[in-house]
Amino acid sequence: MTYLTLSVSGSDIEQLSQRFRAAKTRGAEALEVRLDGLAGLGPDRAGQVIAQARKTKLPVIATCREPNEGGAQSFGIAEKTAILAECIKAGAEFVDCELKIFSKKEAQRPIREALKAHPDCRLILSAHQMKGPFEDINLKYETMLSLWPMAICKLVYTARHINDCFEGLDLLHRSGGKDMIVLSMGQAGLMTRVLAKKLGAFLTFAALDQDTATAAGQIPIDVMKDLFRWDRLDGQTEVFGLIGNPVGHSLSPALFNAAFEKDAINAVYLPFLLEGDPEQFCDFVDGMAERPWLSTGGFSVTIPHKTHALDYVNGKGEFVDALAASIGAANTLKVGFNGIVCGYNTDYAGAMDALTAAMGLEPHALHERQVAVIGAGGVARAVVAGLVDVGAHVTIYNRTLKKARLLAEEFRCKAAGLEALSAAEPSVIINCTSLGMYPEVDASSVAKEVLGPEMTVFDTVYNPVRTQLLEAAEQAGATTISGAEMFIRQAIAQYRVFMGTEPDAKVIRRVVMNALTG
Ligand code: NAP
Repeated sequence: MTYLTLSVSGSDIEQLSQRFRAAKTRGAEALEVRLDGLAGLGPDRAGQVIAQARKTKLPVIATCREPNEGGAQSFGIAEKTAILAECIKAGAEFVDCELKIFSKKEAQRPIREALKAHPDCRLILSAHQMKGPFEDINLKYETMLSLWPMAICKLVYTARHINDCFEGLDLLHRSGGKDMIVLSMGQAGLMTRVLAKKLGAFLTFAALDQDTATAAGQIPIDVMKDLFRWDRLDGQTEVFGLIGNPVGHSLSPALFNAAFEKDAINAVYLPFLLEGDPEQFCDFVDGMAERPWLSTGGFSVTIPHKTHALDYVNGKGEFVDALAASIGAANTLKVGFNGIVCGYNTDYAGAMDALTAAMGLEPHALHERQVAVIGAGGVARAVVAGLVDVGAHVTIYNRTLKKARLLAEEFRCKAAGLEALSAAEPSVIINCTSLGMYPEVDASSVAKEVLGPEMTVFDTVYNPVRTQLLEAAEQAGATTISGAEMFIRQAIAQYRVFMGTEPDAKVIRRVVMNALTG
């Protein structure tokens, strides 16, 4: 079993006790009592706190962390070992001692004696590298085992980049996980906290909430249970996720995990914060795809990595769907059981589905329709590719005319400046600029006078769902389509690529609309 361990600190016994009860109520499977935050800490108080924690009937880990390893206050060796020995006597099931401290004879003796007198208590030997990975994580692990072979070994380091996670995951995998805790701190280390269970680690840590986290990157317990479906994870869980920078506010983890839950699929979808250049992108995808024991199923890809994703698949000579190739970007990577990675683009499918569903048409019925695409960025590329593919007559209007021209040349359509839109008479207008997006919700790329009742107006902006442009189009009697519709439909298309089955669209729609409209 991998314990979902709530790490609890507090400045007084009352506060700690409240948090122990909250941890139990919220579904913690073990408690780490972080004594180092407690005012006036000495052996007696430590014993009292452990007694309080034991009332929850959860397994209790007693920890008094050193400041240079992320703790709040320092104690001399004699005081520290007296505190830990008292915790052992008070019935803590586990006691955590830093390798640096335990290596000292004067610290080891009292702890060894206390453990001998209370054989039900196990020692966790720990090391924390706050500034980055260990110089040699394997050597550190072997040193721990040589000092105390029965120890649970805990190695925690900061991931400066997501690719730093692999050495920890490798160690966890190699050691079989059972008596191991290997975690990466920081936002880039998030996957190690969730995948600890898949790899059979002894525990992972969670926080009651963001404010009471005891280490950088600790995930709140509700998020771990509700979003990442902790209770469903096991060794067979397939891993999916969103690669991007930033990824913190993406709706994708919520919608994919909800869809997996609805379809009773043993999979988890994580945010993968990937900073850096194409080389680091390739290292990450290789790192995931080449470790079959991670069971990677696929990735959604967002800014700034969509072109890196396409180049990655092309570089390997693997399959790229025709529209991803013509758009020049892949937003979906499917990883096969053999580690082979194929590239797709579901942005255009999302846009085309949203458009044709609202107009009540089959895609080919857009043939020779006059469509005004406003903007010449990444979304415009996908939309133009989809429209040209079905033979629509597209004109690209953009603030920077040169960019509109380049895009139009590539897709053999027309280009014009934004001001030319007022003289045009398109039957469909699609906004692919960021105008109108939160927080600048009063902006619109189209003047009211241009809009009319025979038109279809599609705003790819989805936050807010009802943009200024859509409000004006509605008042003019036009058919309107929200960017939320495109977002939902591209996610559905992505799910099909990942799973080869149809998701429950209602679930995806509900998650997205709840998130966007509160
Ligand atoms: P992008 O590549 O940065 O392109 C932005 C476009 O907006 C460019 O054409 C730019 O014109 C134009 N623009 C920006 N500020 C402007 C202004 N003040 N006045 C006139 N034009 C302006 O961005 P993108 O990736 O294409 O994303 C565009 C929007 O699509 C996003 O903001 C988002 O709301 C939406 N989106 C929707 C979905 C969905 O699923 N519904 C998915 C992704 C994105 P210049 O060339 O002149 O700079």
